[in-house]
Amino acid sequence: MAHKAIYTYDTVVVGGGIGGTCAAAMLSSKGKKVLLLEKEPYLGGCSSTFSHQGFRYNTGATTFAGFEEGMPVHAFFKALHVTLPTSPFSCAFVQVQKGKTLPRFEALEPFLEALERVHPHPQNRAFWEEIWRINRAFYAHQGYVFSKRSWGDFVRSLVSFLPIARAFFPLLLRRGDAYVRAKLPGLSPLYMATLEASLRIVTQTTTREASALSTVLALGYPFLRNVYVQGGMGALFDALEPCITHVRKKTPVTRILPRSYGFEIHAHHEVFHTRTLVLNTPVFESAKFFEPGPIQEYFTRFAPLDNDQSAFMVYATLRTDAPLEHHYQLLLDAPFPHTTSDALFVSFSDANDTRLAPPRHRSMTLSVHTKSSWWIGLPPALYKAQKSALVSQILDQVCATLGLEKSCIVHHFGATPKTFARYLGRAQLGGIPMSYTRPFFLNPSNDTPFRGLYMVGDTTFAAQGWPGVIAGVHNLQKLLDA
Ligand SMILES: Cc1cc2nc3c(=O)[nH]c(=O)nc-3n(C[C@H](O)[C@H](O)[C@H](O)COP(=O)(O)OP(=O)(O)OC[C@H]3O[C@@H](n4cnc5c(N)ncnc54)[C@H](O)[C@@H]3O)c2cc1C
Repeated sequence: MAHKAIYTYDTVVVGGGIGGTCAAAMLSSKGKKVLLLEKEPYLGGCSSTFSHQGFRYNTGATTFAGFEEGMPVHAFFKALHVTLPTSPFSCAFVQVQKGKTLPRFEALEPFLEALERVHPHPQNRAFWEEIWRINRAFYAHQGYVFSKRSWGDFVRSLVSFLPIARAFFPLLLRRGDAYVRAKLPGLSPLYMATLEASLRIVTQTTTREASALSTVLALGYPFLRNVYVQGGMGALFDALEPCITHVRKKTPVTRILPRSYGFEIHAHHEVFHTRTLVLNTPVFESAKFFEPGPIQEYFTRFAPLDNDQSAFMVYATLRTDAPLEHHYQLLLDAPFPHTTSDALFVSFSDANDTRLAPPRHRSMTLSVHTKSSWWIGLPPALYKAQKSALVSQILDQVCATLGLEKSCIVHHFGATPKTFARYLGRAQLGGIPMSYTRPFFLNPSNDTPFRGLYMVGDTTFAAQGWPGVIAGVHNLQKLLDA
């Protein structure tokens, strides 16, 4: 049997996605001896930047929202004194529908002007002013803590959410579609489709399934400060990495054993001992690390949260001088085969971002919703044919809609849920949908009933995306400080 080297840490974090990397940086800044273990050669998970045949692409996440004074994402980086390579821009994304464009400007007035041209409605101003106001009011609430370690902690958590519940009570009890139709009576199906598309990328659900509060927060998401990250989303992790005591990449964790002092973590031919363990793997993927027993049973209980939702991606590098926006949402007449959404989210690198694409080129990351089960387990020939047909259809659509020549694509390839499973250890993407029937307090918190065992990431509190996962890291900090 190979000899295993042994190391001891205050905290080991498994997985270097947003949650794991931010948790490791936060704990290191508190003077803890922290080890971050990541299976891939780069940090970032769904929000990383990778190279393929010499071209650079953002893996999944492309937008970095909520980077402004007073917001949790900004507060997090400010506390670490980390400077980020970001530049602000005024339009979160541009929705394109039947040849018309609707820029989702951060500022309310220019957005309202644009909206009146595309979807005029007498209640537009009142509706969107309310969305803007509720968003600002919601993010001002930060005094809550969410724990499920024991029933007592859980009840105390619910009490900490009372100010939010009191402030937004009617919105919590109402369905999103009822709220929208009451505020915008008689709105056209095309207008409703733009709202559904905006909602889907934030809550991963529809207005029929989302509460009015989730709907309002999702529709107001583009009003948060958006910044472009020079060099790709991976640059955020390059900035965070020096804050962490120790980072081991290309180190997949295979086994975790509970011990009297904490946990024994096995990776390759190494063993790490720690008092505190933070898992950044999705909750429904974490049972595999443990032997049969209470911890394995605990994680197995989350299996039903894997809702089969995932993403199909197209990555491309284009040689073009076209004046492209950073982000578009292209609304389709009908979903493409093997996808579940009638909208494509397309992001382009900045024209001056030569870390992400050569001069006069743009790196493109495109995502559309799909189901994991439509890809995983397919016979190889069918998988290949289905994938290449979809890539081709999507690229045709993007070029036709944005007026680009297909010949300007110098490199491209697609990725499926199977690709995500292979590289990031997860096929399910998008976290746990924020649905009306599943209030957040039914979801896993950042602590567990087991001493020293914590979780962060988009399948635990608070939600997916940078703002959602960082809210979970702030919560983790409160739980560890308590
Ligand atoms: C297509 C797509 C587009 C998105 N767009 C946006 C966007 O524009 N803006 C936004 O804010 N959010 C966006 N999101 C959401 C956001 O990317 C995710 O919510 C977030 O990145 C999830 O972070 P996480 O902390 O849960 O970690 P994950 O990203 O799940 O990372 C987990 C990490 O654990 C590692 N790991 C797994 N198994 C092991 C193991 N055994 N040992 C060691 N390491 C392991 C993985 O390699 C990975 O690095 C998007 C997501 C997708 C999929």
